[in-house]
Amino acid sequence: MTTAAILKHCYDITESYLKIDDRVTNNSTISIIKETQDLLISTKQIFLNEILPYWNPIKDNISISYNGGKDCQVLLIIYLACLYEYFYMAALNFNNLKLDTMNTFNNMNTTVKFALKAVYLRQENTFQIINEFIEESSKKYGLSLYKSNIGSMENSLKEYMIHEKWDCNYNTKQKAGIIIGIRRSDPYALNLKYIQQTDKNWPQFMRLQPLLDWKLRNVWSFLIYSNEPICKLYELGFTSLGGVNNTVRNLYLKKTKCNQNGDKCKDGTSTSSHLWNHFQWEFQHRFGSHNKDDHSEDMTIEDNSIDHEYLCNDTESYYPGWFLIDDEKERAGRTKRK
Ligand code: FAD
Ligand code: MG
Ligand code: MG
Repeated sequence: MTTAAILKHCYDITESYLKIDDRVTNNSTISIIKETQDLLISTKQIFLNEILPYWNPIKDNISISYNGGKDCQVLLIIYLACLYEYFYMAALNFNNLKLDTMNTFNNMNTTVKFALKAVYLRQENTFQIINEFIEESSKKYGLSLYKSNIGSMENSLKEYMIHEKWDCNYNTKQKAGIIIGIRRSDPYALNLKYIQQTDKNWPQFMRLQPLLDWKLRNVWSFLIYSNEPICKLYELGFTSLGGVNNTVRNLYLKKTKCNQNGDKCKDGTSTSSHLWNHFQWEFQHRFGSHNKDDHSEDMTIEDNSIDHEYLCNDTESYYPGWFLIDDEKERAGRTKRK
């Protein structure tokens, strides 16, 4: 696919999601979709009005931090959709101000390589499945992905700034910007802003964080509807991706006798009651698919021998990650185990 085709594909996903109308009859489904549509509109506004005029691939001062997780994948799709809207649509509307940029953009599709910069900050002991997904998906989205040496985030980002030759001493709007899929429910993220400078002891650039207000339910609704391949660990009951040594499947997704039929546990202590797929409608009406009989749990999981011992060392089965929509429980699969 050309860069333009990738961007158009992402744009079409977002437009299609925004057009989901009152065909949905289930009240709880429609309320999640409407809420997500509002968030999608405001995230797009942040990109179109506050980010892309200052940071964009043509200025060569923007990148996305990408670790293959659901949040940065959602943000990546929206970012690519907005690039399409900002450059391509604007030129189609004969917006002279942006026409030059449009010409550059078109030329880049054919002659010059259009670099959609992304950075993966490599950590110790990562799941092979995640690494493979990062490779595959960054190819699919046409990303030019820089993989850092293994180390602390700060050091890896320092390394990346040097690699890009991005000067940390510029004024705020001239500094490079890196898109981050962080949400307010993540640790220490409650009071973050959509656009802000990195903290003092971090390499200096602008953090671009337009996904802050999204909740788990919004991320899943959009991602499942998009019909894009996602990291397979989610299908196995993971809800938050970390390293092999500190990530297990989410215990709230463990299938127990009392939650297998969606019944409430008699002792009332089990927090895994009421587990069901809130995104059935999104699955059945996935973008570009007309197969109404498709079911999420039928997805096939590819065997991956390297991760096998971590994934299959018990015989319990788990519901897929998207069965959990309580943000406070998202990180229950992250342990301090070393
Ligand atoms: P996750 O949901 O795992 O990650 C949230 C997002 O962070 C992801 O969607 C992705 O965009 C990015 N991310 C996480 N891990 C990786 C990775 N290994 N490689 C690439 N991207 C990744 N903290 C501070 O206290 N002060 C700062 O100034 C600061 N600046 C940051 C700048 C960047 C570019 C990044 C990526 C992180 C920064 N952080 C900073 C840390 C940040 O606030 C989160 O703690 C960190 O992203 C880990 O997120 P998480 O595991 O809590 O959530
Ligand atoms: Mg996350
Ligand atoms: Mg993380």
